[in-house]
Amino acid sequence: MAKKPDTLWETPADEALRWERGTDLAALDHAATPGWAGKKGDGERLMAERAPELADLQERLFAHGRTGGDRSVLLVLQGMDTAGKGGIVRHVVGLVDPQGVMHRGFGVPTPEEREHGYLWRVRNALPRPGYLGVFDRSHHEQVLVVRVEGLEPEDTWRQHYDELNEFEAEVAASGILIVKVALFVSADEQKERLAERLDRPDKYWKYDPSDIDARTRLPEYLAAYQEMLDRTSTEVAPWYVVPANRKWYARLAATELLTGALRSLDLGWPPATFDIEAEKARLAAS
Ligand code: AMP
Ligand code: MG
Repeated sequence: MAKKPDTLWETPADEALRWERGTDLAALDHAATPGWAGKKGDGERLMAERAPELADLQERLFAHGRTGGDRSVLLVLQGMDTAGKGGIVRHVVGLVDPQGVMHRGFGVPTPEEREHGYLWRVRNALPRPGYLGVFDRSHHEQVLVVRVEGLEPEDTWRQHYDELNEFEAEVAASGILIVKVALFVSADEQKERLAERLDRPDKYWKYDPSDIDARTRLPEYLAAYQEMLDRTSTEVAPWYVVPANRKWYARLAATELLTGALRSLDLGWPPATFDIEAEKARLAAS
């Protein structure tokens, strides 16, 4: 008899992907499928199965927020260009009701944003109670692009590790469950994905000539990501590192992590705040 698809998680995704400090990021196998013993088709089947559960869990969260609850979830997506952040938004976050999602992409700070500290725009984008917040890039760019491009002196950006951890501790204490997912594709896979952007009219809009500049600094980005993972993976906001050469796996893993996070909130449906029988009687009489 065929195995039921979800038994193919030999190790639960949150265990298999959770970053352990000091792991060598350079040794990551970008084509691996940690924890998952199945193939692409099995993964796609499980994702299809998870979809209604994910939607149900997110609706419970939304209902919880609407009835005075203070919990929310923040999915942080980090990764270099072409790592598949947008694909996670479309294919995983896209499984839930958009009215309950607060999505925010973080690009080069605008002139207005520059007038404030770097956490200002991040605080403004935090999910309100009941919402699923999604960050496409995040405050962690302050120790990634800022470091690699030398946008701040080293003694300034070095202070950010502690600041990021303090910030996230505060965010978590306010009721926001933080799920940080870092996606990594190999240099060759990135080259192929960029080539596709240059070959396809429907992908030109995603191409940014500065992506090639970032490519020439891959070793510096690797070092920056390594230190980010080692220094900002905390108990309240751990990093999950997802090998992303196989898009189906990255999406499956993100679905599993998000589903697990929502399940852990253990939210039921809010009870009626009215007298059900009385309302039924009123309805019948109307
Ligand atoms: P994309 O994700 O393709 O829309 O690109 C967003 C760009 O904004 C990337 O090149 C990031 O490196 C850049 N970016 C994001 N956050 C910052 C930041 N805090 N300072 C400078 N550049 C940033
Ligand atoms: Mg881009």
